[in-house]
This record gives sequence, structure tokens and C-alpha cells, in this order.
Amino acid sequence: MNTTTSPENIPPEQIPAPQLAKEFQHAMLDHQLSLNYQPIVHLKTGLVAGFETLMRWHHPDRGMISPGIFIPVAEQTGLIVEASKWALKEAIRALKRLESHVGHNEHIYMSVNFSPSDLADESFLDEMYNVISASDVRPAQVQLEITGDLLKNQRENSKTILGLCRKTGLKIAIDDYGLGDPADFFKYMDDFPISTVKIDHLVVKDMLKVEGALALITDIIGRAKERNIDIIAEGVEHKEEALKLRELGCRYGQGYYFTKPLPERELTTLLLQISAFSDRLK
Ligand code: C2E
Ligand code: CA
Ligand code: CA
Repeated sequence: MNTTTSPENIPPEQIPAPQLAKEFQHAMLDHQLSLNYQPIVHLKTGLVAGFETLMRWHHPDRGMISPGIFIPVAEQTGLIVEASKWALKEAIRALKRLESHVGHNEHIYMSVNFSPSDLADESFLDEMYNVISASDVRPAQVQLEITGDLLKNQRENSKTILGLCRKTGLKIAIDDYGLGDPADFFKYMDDFPISTVKIDHLVVKDMLKVEGALALITDIIGRAKERNIDIIAEGVEHKEEALKLRELGCRYGQGYYFTKPLPERELTTLLLQISAFSDRLK
């Protein structure tokens, strides 16, 4: 028998979207989804400021399926809305457990990714209020990560919703910042009620190699500072990048140089061993 033709052996990227959507729907009910957490590190002190939650799908027959494959399908079918609600609740519960390992820091936060369909969903705000008020985390301990594309395509609606979120004290980060047209992304800093920009890993990767990338980062940091907006550099893989970012005034970094995103249990083990990443920043 040629096993390469059995449905389980099709590479995930070749599974037809309707089939994948059906399997994703089942995955939510069958507890196949989990979250990994990646520390966001203060580049001066090495202390953990927060964690980004990243969804993982462990399919019983197909193995791990990358979010790069299942998130777009979940977005197109609207299934992401249910998945995001689950992720938010799960992330808040995990924060309560993790904060005890980083010195009960009351400012430590969870940063959760949201998609265009989440913000467009009419129950989004109620759901946010309900989940946060039912927990004992403060709104400032939750950061919503949204991409610039979302802001561009749903301008008025996103502005209203994000404004209400900010009023309640939630943090709002623009994800994948620094890609595309600077005329667009620089405007986001004034047009939307954001608290944070996350410089995309592709910009960070080019920082010490490609002409113009360092100037772009310097420009982003300067403009963010003028507006009291926090900056997180993503995809920090090397010490030289971390140190350069710190020198430029970027306050936070996140990336494989500190640790890849980890399941809660492994992250807890790591935090019990080191509690901060200060050694990596010397
Ligand atoms: P993202 O939000 O930009 O997340 C950062 C991605 O960079 C993650 O990929 C993370 O594992 C990866 N990463 C972390 N450190 C490094 C590094 O040092 N170098 C490099 N090259 N990459 C690094 P991941 O987990 O595969 O997620 C991919 C994308 O899927 C995310 O990009 C996000 O857009 C989406 N995603 C993941 N989880 C969720 C979720 O719960 N909800 C939504 N709506 N989207 C999600
Ligand atoms: Ca993100
Ligand atoms: Ca990103």
C-alpha cells in the first residue's frame, strides 16, 4: 500500500481548506489546541515583563500543524473567534500561575494575538470585560496584539473598539511593525490608541546586515518614545542584536536568544532555574 496517498500523510499545507477547517473545529472540542508562552524581556535588567501566547495544534494523526497554516484557515472560516476566546481565558489562568515564578510582579502581562474577525465580532468587547472581570488580573496585565493590516482595513471600527479597550486599561500592541510602507505604519502611532509597537522579526534580522534597517529601527524608537509608546523587538536571535537594541533605547526584546516559545510546564522549569535573563545581557 502506498501510504503517501493516505489523507493523514498529506503535508498540512496541502490539506484543502474546508477539510482543515473541519479538523480545526474538532480540535477545539477535542482539546488538541494548546498555548506556548514566550517571555518578553526587559533589555536593561533581563527581567521578564510579560509573555506572548502562541497557539499550537497537535493533531493526533498529522502531528504538529503550524499556526502559519491553521490560523489563516481559522480566520477565513470565523472559527478563530472561538479559538481566541479560549486562548484569552487560558492565557489569563496561566498568568496567575506563572507570575509566582517571576517574583509576584503585579505588572507582568500576557500578550494575546487577535485577528480581524475577533475585532469584528460583536461580542468581542463584552467577552473581554467578562473574562477579565471574572479573573483577578488587572486590565493592564492583558495586551492585545493586532497587526497593522487589521488597522488599515477596518479603520473606523478598529479605532472605536481599541479606544474602548484602552479606556478600560488594556494594553494594545501593533504586531509586525516596520513592514510595508512607512507612510502607513508611522501614521498608526497617532491614529490608533496603542500602547506598544512590536518591531517585526524581519526588520530585527536585517538590523546589523542590511543598509537602512538600523536607521528604520532608530526612527521607530525615536517616534515611539516621543509618544510614550513602548517598544518590543521581536525575533531577537543574537546577543549583538539584543545589545544594539538596548543601546538604541529599545526597552524590550523577545526571541530565540532568550528562549523559544515554551509550554507552561517547560517555561516554569526554566523560570525556576533562572528567574531573569540578566546573564544574557552582560
Ligand atoms: P507572530 O504573532 O508574529 O508571532 C511571532 C512568531 O515568531 C511566532 O511564530 C514565534 O514562534 C516566532 N519567533 C519567536 N522568536 C523568534 C526568533 O527569535 N526568530 C524567529 N525567526 N521567529 C521567532 P509561530 O508561533 O509559528 O506563530 C506564527 C504566527 O501565527 C504568529 O506570528 C501569529 O500571527 C499567528 N498566531 C500564533 N498564535 C496565534 C493566536 O493565538 N491567535 C492568532 N490570531 N494568531 C496566532
Ligand atoms: Ca504576535
Ligand atoms: Ca510579530
